[in-house]
Amino acid sequence: ERIETDVVVIGAGAAGLMCAIAAGARGRRVLVLDHANKVGKKILMSGGGRCNFTNTGTSPANYISANPHFCKSALARYTPSDFIAMVDAHRIAWHEKELGQLFCDESSKLIVRMLLDEAAAVDAQVRTHCTVERIERPGERHFRLRTTLGTVECESLVVATGGLSIPSMGATGFGYEIARQFGHAVLATRAGLVPLTLSGKPLERLQDLSGLSFEVEASCNGASFRNRLLVTHRGLSGPAILQISSYWQPGDALRLDLLPGRDALAWLQAQQRERAGTELRNVLADVLPRRFAQRLCEVWLPSRPMKQYGPSQLQQVATQLADWRITASGTEGYRTAEVTLGGVDTDGLSSSTMMSRQVPGLFFIGEVVDVTGWLGGYNFQWAWASGRAAGGAC
Ligand code: FAD
Repeated sequence: ERIETDVVVIGAGAAGLMCAIAAGARGRRVLVLDHANKVGKKILMSGGGRCNFTNTGTSPANYISANPHFCKSALARYTPSDFIAMVDAHRIAWHEKELGQLFCDESSKLIVRMLLDEAAAVDAQVRTHCTVERIERPGERHFRLRTTLGTVECESLVVATGGLSIPSMGATGFGYEIARQFGHAVLATRAGLVPLTLSGKPLERLQDLSGLSFEVEASCNGASFRNRLLVTHRGLSGPAILQISSYWQPGDALRLDLLPGRDALAWLQAQQRERAGTELRNVLADVLPRRFAQRLCEVWLPSRPMKQYGPSQLQQVATQLADWRITASGTEGYRTAEVTLGGVDTDGLSSSTMMSRQVPGLFFIGEVVDVTGWLGGYNFQWAWASGRAAGGAC
């Protein structure tokens, strides 16, 4: 089979489908190719099956990129309200959970259905089970793809293959290979929004507390997030840890404020005045899970009745609680990561259209690009916005 079309999008995920919708609306003939057996698998599994499809507080500050300015233009031109308008037009019920995160009331399937309906409405074709074997560029604005469906010729080629996380869901490094083939730099990739692992003493000391969860402020390399921490049988997880994992590099110590929002010293002094005879571990059990408070006082802090702490000892305890350091040994890796940090260097792309600076007609959108959002709907908002930007130009 030989197919000729205007635009080919590789990857029928969040960014690829949005791009197809926007390009189709301009009258472009669009073909979306995906090697998976169904489209939008990550959308389906996202947000625990309810898809956290955007964040009302989206701003460029919620993204990590070697060039923090790159995401600004696309995000400004396609906002959370724009996506909400599409969701509302399809009568998909949604709710805000916390921190501006919007979820479907029912199922993320409705978001995939919406995208496919929108694509069909502009006659964009979507084909699954298609592997792209080779890409040639016989001329300016002319790409030839050798695929399992046959040869596909197009003017514009949009790469929307996503990141490396969850290989079992069809993630591949193909987008990075295409980038390199056309002379683009690819910045080192690593797992982001991922649980951190512990080993040795720290793991031994916490492992049996697996399942305990409490609020902390986690800090590392200038970033900090106040949210819940979850102890797991391999280390640490929970939203605070997933967020900080994107800023963590091997060897870095994590700093955890175990009493977020409180002045630890003032609080301890007040406890000392009011409960002089009570042991520290019991005092701490009022604000932390009892078993964790107990463990802290067995391993890291001296536990005595409050009245027995001198001012400098109380200060030391306060420091330990406000700035508890723990060294992670690694991350759980792409197997459980929500996103991939790094990717196609934005230096080679136009921030308004996502088009390659050196190869006219070649575009990169979504997670394959070196733009990675925080946890909370920001990654989908980037997929929609960058997809829309390319869809308006491809
Ligand atoms: P994807 O949506 O991953 O789509 C890429 C597509 O390309 C896939 O369909 C894939 O099959 C296809 N593909 C890959 N390689 C090839 C190839 N060689 N040939 C052909 N096709 C190929 N973000 C949020 O904002 N909110 C959430 O609630 C959320 N929850 C998540 C939960 C989980 C478990 C995971 C893993 C991620 C979650 N994310 C969430 C992140 C979000 O899913 C991604 O950032 C987003 O899907 C990226 O969109 P994309 O279109 O760039 O890539």
